[in-house]
Amino acid sequence: MKALVVRKEGDEKPVAAVEDITEDMLPEADVTVAVDYSTVNYKDGLCIGPGGGLVRKYPHVPGIDFAGTVEASSDDRYKPGDKVVLTGWRVGEAHWGGYAQKARVKADWLVPLPEGLDTRQAMAVGTAGLTAMLAVMALEDQGMEKDHGPVLVTGAAGGVGSVATAILANLGYEVAAVTGRPDQADYLKSLGASEIVARDELTEVTRKPLESERWAGCVDAVGGAMLGRVLKQMKYGTSVAAIGLAGGAAIDGALVTPFILRGVNLLGIDSVMQPFANRQRAWQRIASDLPMDKLEAMVQPATLADLPELGKGILKGQVKGRVVVDVNA
Ligand code: NDP
Repeated sequence: MKALVVRKEGDEKPVAAVEDITEDMLPEADVTVAVDYSTVNYKDGLCIGPGGGLVRKYPHVPGIDFAGTVEASSDDRYKPGDKVVLTGWRVGEAHWGGYAQKARVKADWLVPLPEGLDTRQAMAVGTAGLTAMLAVMALEDQGMEKDHGPVLVTGAAGGVGSVATAILANLGYEVAAVTGRPDQADYLKSLGASEIVARDELTEVTRKPLESERWAGCVDAVGGAMLGRVLKQMKYGTSVAAIGLAGGAAIDGALVTPFILRGVNLLGIDSVMQPFANRQRAWQRIASDLPMDKLEAMVQPATLADLPELGKGILKGQVKGRVVVDVNA
Protein backbone atom coordinates (compact mmCIF):
# COMPACT_ATOMS: atom_id res chain seq x y z
CA MET A 1 0.00 0.00 0.00
CA LYS A 2 1.05 3.58 -0.57
CA ALA A 3 2.06 6.06 2.11
CA LEU A 4 3.84 9.39 2.39
CA VAL A 5 6.91 8.48 4.44
CA VAL A 6 9.16 11.08 6.01
CA ARG A 7 12.75 9.90 6.57
CA LYS A 8 15.55 11.71 8.37
CA GLU A 9 19.22 10.73 8.43
CA GLY A 10 21.32 12.16 11.26
CA ASP A 11 21.39 15.98 11.18
CA GLU A 12 20.08 16.17 7.61
CA LYS A 13 16.69 17.76 6.85
CA PRO A 14 13.74 15.32 6.75
CA VAL A 15 12.74 14.14 3.26
CA ALA A 16 9.14 13.15 2.39
CA ALA A 17 8.27 10.82 -0.51
CA VAL A 18 5.49 8.43 -1.53
CA GLU A 19 6.60 4.83 -0.85
CA ASP A 20 5.13 1.33 -0.91
CA ILE A 21 4.82 0.07 2.66
CA THR A 22 3.47 -3.21 4.09
CA GLU A 23 0.77 -3.66 6.71
CA ASP A 24 3.18 -5.20 9.22
CA MET A 25 4.97 -1.82 9.36
CA LEU A 26 1.88 -0.13 10.89
CA PRO A 27 2.05 0.58 14.64
CA GLU A 28 0.43 -1.80 17.14
CA ALA A 29 -3.15 -0.76 18.06
CA ASP A 30 -6.64 -2.25 18.17
CA VAL A 31 -8.40 -0.92 15.03
CA THR A 32 -7.16 -1.07 11.42
CA VAL A 33 -8.85 1.47 9.14
CA ALA A 34 -8.85 1.57 5.35
CA VAL A 35 -8.28 5.30 4.90
CA ASP A 36 -10.32 7.18 2.28
CA TYR A 37 -9.26 10.78 2.90
CA SER A 38 -6.90 12.83 5.03
CA THR A 39 -6.16 16.58 5.00
CA VAL A 40 -3.44 19.21 5.32
CA ASN A 41 -3.32 21.17 8.58
CA TYR A 42 -0.63 23.52 9.88
CA LYS A 43 0.80 20.72 12.08
CA ASP A 44 0.97 18.45 9.03
CA GLY A 45 3.14 21.09 7.36
CA LEU A 46 5.51 20.81 10.33
CA CYS A 47 5.46 16.99 10.34
CA ILE A 48 6.06 16.70 6.56
CA GLY A 49 8.95 19.15 6.77
CA PRO A 50 10.95 20.47 9.71
CA GLY A 51 9.18 18.35 12.36
CA GLY A 52 8.68 21.28 14.74
CA GLY A 53 9.43 19.02 17.71
CA LEU A 54 6.21 17.10 16.99
CA VAL A 55 7.65 13.97 15.32
CA ARG A 56 9.12 11.59 17.87
CA LYS A 57 10.66 8.95 15.58
CA TYR A 58 11.60 8.57 11.91
CA PRO A 59 10.63 7.06 9.51
CA HIS A 60 7.27 8.70 10.05
CA VAL A 61 3.86 8.76 8.33
CA PRO A 62 2.17 12.15 9.00
CA GLY A 63 -1.53 12.98 8.67
CA ILE A 64 -3.16 14.30 11.87
CA ASP A 65 -6.67 13.37 10.73
CA PHE A 66 -8.39 10.85 8.48
CA ALA A 67 -11.75 9.27 7.65
CA GLY A 68 -12.32 5.77 6.36
CA THR A 69 -13.79 2.32 6.97
CA VAL A 70 -12.88 -0.13 9.74
CA GLU A 71 -11.20 -3.18 8.28
CA ALA A 72 -10.37 -5.11 11.46
CA SER A 73 -11.00 -4.42 15.15
CA SER A 74 -10.23 -6.18 18.43
CA ASP A 75 -12.41 -3.64 20.27
CA ASP A 76 -16.17 -4.31 20.67
CA ARG A 77 -17.10 -0.71 19.80
CA TYR A 78 -16.08 -1.11 16.15
CA LYS A 79 -16.64 -3.81 13.55
CA PRO A 80 -15.50 -4.16 9.93
CA GLY A 81 -17.46 -1.84 7.64
CA ASP A 82 -18.03 0.93 10.23
CA LYS A 83 -17.30 4.41 8.93
CA VAL A 84 -15.07 6.38 11.28
CA VAL A 85 -13.28 9.70 11.64
CA LEU A 86 -10.16 10.52 13.62
CA THR A 87 -8.67 13.84 14.71
CA GLY A 88 -6.04 14.51 17.34
CA TRP A 89 -4.51 12.27 20.04
CA ARG A 90 -1.07 13.02 18.49
CA VAL A 91 -1.83 10.72 15.58
CA GLY A 92 0.35 11.85 12.68
CA GLU A 93 2.86 13.19 15.24
CA ALA A 94 3.83 10.54 17.81
CA HIS A 95 1.89 7.74 16.03
CA TRP A 96 1.67 7.03 12.26
CA GLY A 97 -1.22 8.95 10.74
CA GLY A 98 -3.55 9.28 7.80
CA TYR A 99 -1.16 9.77 4.86
CA ALA A 100 -1.38 6.04 4.00
CA GLN A 101 -3.95 3.71 2.53
CA LYS A 102 -4.31 2.07 5.96
CA ALA A 103 -3.88 3.28 9.53
CA ARG A 104 -3.86 1.38 12.82
CA VAL A 105 -5.06 3.32 15.88
CA LYS A 106 -6.64 2.96 19.33
CA ALA A 107 -10.43 2.59 19.39
CA ASP A 108 -10.59 5.40 21.99
CA TRP A 109 -9.33 7.87 19.42
CA LEU A 110 -12.05 7.20 16.83
CA VAL A 111 -15.49 8.74 16.45
CA PRO A 112 -18.24 7.03 14.39
CA LEU A 113 -18.92 9.10 11.27
CA PRO A 114 -21.96 11.24 12.12
CA GLU A 115 -25.12 10.75 10.08
CA GLY A 116 -25.31 13.23 7.19
CA LEU A 117 -21.57 13.26 6.44
CA ASP A 118 -19.57 11.02 4.12
CA THR A 119 -15.85 10.39 4.57
CA ARG A 120 -14.86 13.09 2.05
CA GLN A 121 -17.07 15.72 3.71
CA ALA A 122 -15.73 14.68 7.12
CA MET A 123 -12.21 15.43 5.91
CA ALA A 124 -13.25 18.64 4.17
CA VAL A 125 -14.08 19.60 7.77
CA GLY A 126 -11.13 17.77 9.39
CA THR A 127 -9.20 18.96 12.43
CA ALA A 128 -9.48 22.61 11.35
CA GLY A 129 -13.27 22.41 11.05
CA LEU A 130 -13.72 20.47 14.27
CA THR A 131 -11.67 23.14 16.05
CA ALA A 132 -13.76 25.90 14.46
CA MET A 133 -16.92 24.18 15.76
CA LEU A 134 -15.43 23.72 19.25
CA ALA A 135 -14.59 27.44 19.25
CA VAL A 136 -18.14 28.44 18.26
CA MET A 137 -19.57 26.10 20.93
CA ALA A 138 -17.27 27.66 23.57
CA LEU A 139 -18.34 31.18 22.57
CA GLU A 140 -22.01 30.16 22.71
CA ASP A 141 -21.47 28.64 26.17
CA GLN A 142 -20.19 32.06 27.26
CA GLY A 143 -23.38 33.73 26.00
CA MET A 144 -22.39 35.08 22.55
CA GLU A 145 -25.47 36.77 21.05
CA LYS A 146 -26.58 37.20 17.44
CA ASP A 147 -27.87 40.77 17.67
CA HIS A 148 -24.88 42.12 19.58
CA GLY A 149 -22.72 43.08 16.58
CA PRO A 150 -20.16 41.42 14.32
CA VAL A 151 -18.18 38.34 15.34
CA LEU A 152 -14.57 38.51 14.18
CA VAL A 153 -12.77 35.58 12.52
CA THR A 154 -9.00 35.97 12.07
CA GLY A 155 -6.90 34.02 9.54
CA ALA A 156 -10.21 33.77 7.75
CA ALA A 157 -9.03 32.41 4.37
CA GLY A 158 -7.21 29.54 6.12
CA GLY A 159 -8.72 26.21 7.18
CA VAL A 160 -10.05 27.02 10.65
CA GLY A 161 -11.07 30.53 9.58
CA SER A 162 -13.01 29.37 6.52
CA VAL A 163 -15.04 26.81 8.45
CA ALA A 164 -15.63 29.21 11.38
CA THR A 165 -16.88 31.88 8.95
CA ALA A 166 -19.32 29.47 7.29
CA ILE A 167 -20.64 28.03 10.57
CA LEU A 168 -21.15 31.42 12.23
CA ALA A 169 -22.84 32.93 9.14
CA ASN A 170 -25.11 29.90 8.82
CA LEU A 171 -26.13 30.23 12.49
CA GLY A 172 -27.17 33.84 11.78
CA TYR A 173 -24.20 35.77 13.20
CA GLU A 174 -22.84 38.81 11.40
CA VAL A 175 -19.26 37.79 10.51
CA ALA A 176 -16.28 40.13 10.02
CA ALA A 177 -13.46 38.17 8.34
CA VAL A 178 -9.83 39.28 8.74
CA THR A 179 -7.51 38.37 5.89
CA GLY A 180 -4.10 39.35 4.59
CA ARG A 181 -5.20 38.25 1.11
CA PRO A 182 -7.52 40.92 -0.37
CA ASP A 183 -8.01 38.68 -3.45
CA GLN A 184 -9.91 36.25 -1.16
CA ALA A 185 -12.63 38.79 -0.28
CA ASP A 186 -15.16 37.28 -2.72
CA TYR A 187 -14.41 33.78 -1.43
CA LEU A 188 -14.99 34.90 2.17
CA LYS A 189 -18.22 36.67 1.23
CA SER A 190 -19.39 33.49 -0.53
CA LEU A 191 -18.91 31.69 2.82
CA GLY A 192 -21.15 34.28 4.49
CA ALA A 193 -18.80 37.04 5.74
CA SER A 194 -20.55 40.40 5.70
CA GLU A 195 -17.42 42.50 6.29
CA ILE A 196 -13.78 42.04 5.24
CA VAL A 197 -11.14 43.50 7.56
CA ALA A 198 -7.59 43.96 6.22
CA ARG A 199 -4.96 42.12 8.27
CA ASP A 200 -2.80 45.27 8.46
CA GLU A 201 -5.59 47.10 10.24
CA LEU A 202 -5.13 44.78 13.25
CA THR A 203 -1.42 43.97 13.36
CA GLU A 204 0.07 47.28 14.45
CA VAL A 205 1.17 46.97 18.09
CA THR A 206 -0.16 49.79 20.29
CA ARG A 207 0.16 50.51 24.01
CA LYS A 208 -3.39 51.86 24.24
CA PRO A 209 -5.17 50.22 27.19
CA LEU A 210 -8.46 49.89 25.28
CA GLU A 211 -9.92 50.78 21.85
CA SER A 212 -13.50 51.34 20.64
CA GLU A 213 -15.74 48.33 21.29
CA ARG A 214 -16.26 46.51 17.99
CA TRP A 215 -16.68 42.72 18.30
CA ALA A 216 -19.36 40.54 19.91
CA GLY A 217 -17.09 37.48 19.79
CA CYS A 218 -13.94 36.29 18.06
CA VAL A 219 -12.50 33.03 16.69
CA ASP A 220 -8.77 33.74 16.55
CA ALA A 221 -6.47 31.49 14.49
CA VAL A 222 -3.59 33.98 14.42
CA GLY A 223 -2.51 35.04 17.94
CA GLY A 224 0.48 37.41 18.04
CA ALA A 225 0.00 41.14 17.60
CA MET A 226 -3.47 40.60 16.15
CA LEU A 227 -4.78 38.94 19.31
CA GLY A 228 -3.25 41.79 21.37
CA ARG A 229 -5.24 44.35 19.33
CA VAL A 230 -8.46 42.34 19.11
CA LEU A 231 -8.68 41.91 22.90
CA LYS A 232 -8.76 45.71 23.27
CA GLN A 233 -11.61 45.98 20.74
CA MET A 234 -13.94 43.37 22.27
CA LYS A 235 -17.33 44.55 23.52
CA TYR A 236 -18.04 44.42 27.25
CA GLY A 237 -18.48 40.86 28.61
CA THR A 238 -17.63 39.07 25.35
CA SER A 239 -15.15 36.28 24.61
CA VAL A 240 -12.29 35.42 22.28
CA ALA A 241 -11.75 31.74 21.44
CA ALA A 242 -8.02 31.42 20.77
CA ILE A 243 -7.26 28.38 18.65
CA GLY A 244 -3.96 29.05 16.89
CA LEU A 245 -0.76 30.97 16.51
CA ALA A 246 -0.23 31.33 12.75
CA GLY A 247 0.95 34.91 13.45
CA GLY A 248 3.00 34.17 16.57
CA ALA A 249 2.74 32.72 20.07
CA ALA A 250 3.47 35.91 22.05
CA ILE A 251 0.43 38.18 22.46
CA ASP A 252 2.29 41.34 21.49
CA GLY A 253 1.02 44.56 23.04
CA ALA A 254 -1.57 42.80 25.19
CA LEU A 255 -2.52 44.41 28.50
CA VAL A 256 -4.76 43.19 31.31
CA THR A 257 -7.14 46.14 30.82
CA PRO A 258 -9.65 44.34 28.52
CA PHE A 259 -10.02 41.57 31.13
CA ILE A 260 -10.42 43.95 34.08
CA LEU A 261 -12.31 46.90 32.61
CA ARG A 262 -14.42 45.08 30.01
CA GLY A 263 -14.75 41.61 31.53
CA VAL A 264 -13.40 40.04 28.33
CA ASN A 265 -12.78 36.26 28.44
CA LEU A 266 -9.94 34.54 26.64
CA LEU A 267 -10.89 30.92 25.98
CA GLY A 268 -8.21 28.46 24.88
CA ILE A 269 -9.45 25.74 22.52
CA ASP A 270 -7.55 22.49 22.06
CA SER A 271 -8.95 19.86 19.71
CA VAL A 272 -6.18 17.31 20.35
CA MET A 273 -7.23 15.80 23.68
CA GLN A 274 -11.00 16.48 23.52
CA PRO A 275 -12.99 13.78 25.36
CA PHE A 276 -15.20 11.50 23.24
CA ALA A 277 -18.51 13.13 24.28
CA ASN A 278 -17.39 16.66 23.23
CA ARG A 279 -15.89 15.35 20.03
CA GLN A 280 -19.09 13.51 19.12
CA ARG A 281 -21.27 16.53 20.00
CA ALA A 282 -19.08 18.79 17.84
CA TRP A 283 -19.22 16.38 14.87
CA GLN A 284 -23.01 16.20 15.18
CA ARG A 285 -23.23 20.01 15.26
CA ILE A 286 -21.01 20.16 12.16
CA ALA A 287 -23.37 17.80 10.33
CA SER A 288 -26.32 20.04 11.25
CA ASP A 289 -24.84 23.58 11.23
CA LEU A 290 -22.34 23.65 8.36
CA PRO A 291 -23.90 24.02 4.90
CA MET A 292 -22.39 21.37 2.61
CA ASP A 293 -22.36 23.64 -0.47
CA LYS A 294 -20.19 26.13 1.41
CA LEU A 295 -17.95 23.31 2.60
CA GLU A 296 -17.48 22.22 -1.01
CA ALA A 297 -16.43 25.76 -1.97
CA MET A 298 -13.53 25.52 0.52
CA VAL A 299 -12.13 22.24 -0.81
CA GLN A 300 -8.93 21.88 -2.76
CA PRO A 301 -8.41 18.21 -3.81
CA ALA A 302 -4.94 16.63 -3.54
CA THR A 303 -3.08 13.30 -3.69
CA LEU A 304 -0.25 11.89 -1.57
CA ALA A 305 2.25 13.08 -4.19
CA ASP A 306 1.11 16.71 -3.74
CA LEU A 307 1.84 16.72 0.00
CA PRO A 308 5.50 17.83 0.14
CA GLU A 309 4.64 21.08 -1.69
CA LEU A 310 1.37 21.63 0.20
CA GLY A 311 3.21 21.16 3.50
CA LYS A 312 5.54 24.04 2.61
CA GLY A 313 2.58 26.18 1.45
CA ILE A 314 0.55 25.86 4.65
CA LEU A 315 3.53 26.90 6.78
CA LYS A 316 3.74 30.09 4.70
CA GLY A 317 -0.02 30.79 5.15
CA GLN A 318 -0.59 30.28 1.41
CA VAL A 319 -3.17 27.50 1.49
CA LYS A 320 -6.80 28.52 0.98
CA GLY A 321 -9.62 26.70 2.78
CA ARG A 322 -9.29 22.95 3.24
CA VAL A 323 -7.07 20.54 1.34
CA VAL A 324 -8.68 17.07 1.05
CA VAL A 325 -6.18 14.31 0.27
CA ASP A 326 -7.52 11.25 -1.58
CA VAL A 327 -4.95 8.70 -0.36
CA ASN A 328 -6.11 6.13 -2.95
CA ALA A 329 -5.80 8.41 -6.00
P1 NDP B 1 -4.02 27.83 7.76
O1 NDP B 1 -2.61 28.02 7.36
O2 NDP B 1 -4.96 27.18 6.84
O3 NDP B 1 -4.64 29.25 8.18
C1 NDP B 1 -3.95 30.22 8.92
C2 NDP B 1 -4.31 31.58 8.36
O4 NDP B 1 -3.77 32.58 9.23
C3 NDP B 1 -3.67 31.85 7.01
O5 NDP B 1 -4.41 31.31 5.96
C4 NDP B 1 -3.67 33.36 7.00
O6 NDP B 1 -5.01 33.79 6.69
C5 NDP B 1 -3.42 33.72 8.47
N1 NDP B 1 -2.00 34.01 8.73
C6 NDP B 1 -0.93 33.23 8.42
N2 NDP B 1 0.21 33.81 8.84
C7 NDP B 1 -0.14 34.98 9.41
C8 NDP B 1 0.59 36.04 10.03
N3 NDP B 1 1.91 36.01 10.13
N4 NDP B 1 -0.10 37.08 10.54
C9 NDP B 1 -1.44 37.14 10.45
N5 NDP B 1 -2.19 36.17 9.86
C10 NDP B 1 -1.55 35.11 9.36
O7 NDP B 1 -3.98 27.03 9.16
P2 NDP B 1 -5.21 26.42 9.98
O8 NDP B 1 -6.41 27.25 9.78
O9 NDP B 1 -5.29 24.96 9.73
O10 NDP B 1 -4.66 26.60 11.46
C11 NDP B 1 -4.52 27.91 12.00
C12 NDP B 1 -3.81 27.84 13.34
O11 NDP B 1 -4.58 27.07 14.24
C13 NDP B 1 -2.43 27.17 13.31
O12 NDP B 1 -1.60 27.84 14.23
C14 NDP B 1 -2.72 25.76 13.77
O13 NDP B 1 -1.60 25.12 14.33
C15 NDP B 1 -3.80 26.02 14.79
N6 NDP B 1 -4.70 24.90 15.04
C16 NDP B 1 -5.03 24.66 16.34
C17 NDP B 1 -5.91 23.66 16.66
C18 NDP B 1 -6.30 23.46 18.07
O14 NDP B 1 -6.76 22.38 18.45
N7 NDP B 1 -6.19 24.47 18.90
C19 NDP B 1 -6.45 22.76 15.62
C20 NDP B 1 -6.14 23.19 14.25
C21 NDP B 1 -5.26 24.21 14.00
P3 NDP B 1 -5.31 35.04 5.74
O15 NDP B 1 -4.47 34.83 4.52
O16 NDP B 1 -6.77 35.00 5.52
O17 NDP B 1 -4.86 36.26 6.51
